[in-house]
Amino acid sequence: MHAWSIDGNAQRLDGGAMFGNVPRALWQDWLAPDEHHRVSLACRGLLVDGLNGRTVLFETGIGAFFEPALRRRFGIEGDHNRLPESLGAAGFNEADIDAVVLSHLHFDHAGGLLTDWQEGREPGLRFPNARYLVGAAAWARACRPHPRDRASFIPSLPPLLKDSGRLELIDGDTSATLGADVRFRFSDGHTPGLMISVIGGDGGLAFCSDLIPGRPWVHLPVTMGFDRYPERLIDEKRVFLDEMIARDIRLVFTHDAECAVATPTQDEQGRYRVANEAPAIVAMEL
Ligand SMILES: [Zn+2]
Repeated sequence: MHAWSIDGNAQRLDGGAMFGNVPRALWQDWLAPDEHHRVSLACRGLLVDGLNGRTVLFETGIGAFFEPALRRRFGIEGDHNRLPESLGAAGFNEADIDAVVLSHLHFDHAGGLLTDWQEGREPGLRFPNARYLVGAAAWARACRPHPRDRASFIPSLPPLLKDSGRLELIDGDTSATLGADVRFRFSDGHTPGLMISVIGGDGGLAFCSDLIPGRPWVHLPVTMGFDRYPERLIDEKRVFLDEMIARDIRLVFTHDAECAVATPTQDEQGRYRVANEAPAIVAMEL
């Protein structure tokens, strides 16, 4: 098995919203804001081949399905989806992908599933040969969003996934398509049923998604303003980090612009940190 980080389109988002109740005097040292108080974020996926004999993409980033005015409002960089060229750089194309695993259906994680915006045309689904793996609780939430996070979902996406005939809902720790090579963990602090993929067992990789979107959020009290239940997320994060450290599993970050993967550690004071940070994953053997 080999893994590659796959860059989707970058995004600039309000720094205060990304850091919840952390004072700006602290977070601006972790991630420098621009003149509009926005911070640069990646929307990164992970490609792994040979997973139960399949080529698998974990998340698709934000894509370019929004009309230009919304693309500007959400600070999305680029006028086309970067995903195909990032896959190409790793030696793959869309048709090679046998499964796309989605931690949840917020647009910055699932928007890359959709074809790019075109005047007067509804977007369609990319990845013609892939099964789309979505956690059952995250799917239910996307079909019936709460007013608080309704704007984070793409109304046209659930019908497209359902009508594809290739949607696979997951409610246990494994899936029919990926077998024992990928074990799922679920978390409710960010959104109901956020699905975290642990790939390759001990010594492998964990795609943390929005449980830990980047290095600053490894520190236990740091949560996002977008999280539903920050205290619950903190409790879930502690349990998750303890297990990842014990099993020597590296963390893959979707939103950290500078760091794709790092090893979680804990210092003598009990504070969680990272080591062995790398800006990209290139044909990493698993
Ligand atoms: Zn999210």
